[in-house]
Amino acid sequence: MARKILLIDDDRMQFRLLQAHFKNFQGEHYDLEWAATYEEGLERLLRGQHAACLLDYQLGLRNGLELIREAVAQGCRTPIVFLTAESAERIDVAAMNAGALDYLVKGEITPRMVERSLRYALKLGETLEALRRMATRDQLTGLLNRREFERILTEEDERVRRFKHSAALVMVDIDHFKSVNDTHGHTAGDAVLREVARRVADEVRTVDRAFRFGGEEIALLLVQTDRAGAFDLAKRTCRAVERDPIMVSDTIALNVTVSAGSAAMPADADSGLSLLNAADKALYAAKARGRNRAIPFDSL
Ligand code: GH3
Ligand code: MG
Ligand code: MG
Repeated sequence: MARKILLIDDDRMQFRLLQAHFKNFQGEHYDLEWAATYEEGLERLLRGQHAACLLDYQLGLRNGLELIREAVAQGCRTPIVFLTAESAERIDVAAMNAGALDYLVKGEITPRMVERSLRYALKLGETLEALRRMATRDQLTGLLNRREFERILTEEDERVRRFKHSAALVMVDIDHFKSVNDTHGHTAGDAVLREVARRVADEVRTVDRAFRFGGEEIALLLVQTDRAGAFDLAKRTCRAVERDPIMVSDTIALNVTVSAGSAAMPADADSGLSLLNAADKALYAAKARGRNRAIPFDSL
């Protein structure tokens, strides 16, 4: 199936013209779809189903620069190629600064130029996505990394203060993990770590809230969740790991367990840092009381 490209332009002629250009592409063929207004364009772009977007500057009362900024702020990662008129000076620079990957000058567009520009934007988009992944995720488990944890915890901290929301944290640590490494080797340890991460992440609503906090420690950051909700997740997490043995080779299955501590903000803590301390204390209580269990901070 051909990849879809979204054109956001209030001019039907431009759509017809590009449609004709698309038919003359020499390499890959794409389906060109058309949104005629700012609102429709933004909405469809944010669905994330297009390989790339061609975006016009002039869109009724609003413009393409605003649209890029709004889309990027809402997490859009679709590569965008900007369309400018010859007369619009320096719009191209502003568009690139806002996040467009390339631009085309209307009136000078040939099929080869559109094709080249799209191919370039798609390739650059893939590269940027790979870099983003490397910067935000842990390679072994695919979970978000410690730096993302710090960043999102700070964001949640502000949200809780400003909007009187709640947020909660569950800290999970594998029990006696050192002995897995010592007995079965580091490769087996890695396999256990990956599988525990998968099971734990499965228990949260979205994978984007599960972090590899440290060696064999996983943090689950929950928005709009209170003490009870966090403790419930902590218990489910322990059960999900304990339920089935983990295969580390064709013949070796290990019984692995985790301990978990939960805490909520603002009930247990008044800042991101104190939330982390509270969940950590609860985790250590779970270890001290025999492991393979969840403990909420408010029970200490
Ligand atoms: P406890 O139940 O008290 O948590 O005991 P533990 O053995 O799990 O805890 P400890 O902190 O003593 O050991 C953690 C071990 O995790 C030590 C370290 O070598 C191992 N580890 C950390 N990161 C990795 C990793 O990426 N891969 C593997 N295989 N092991 C790791
Ligand atoms: Mg451990
Ligand atoms: Mg540990």
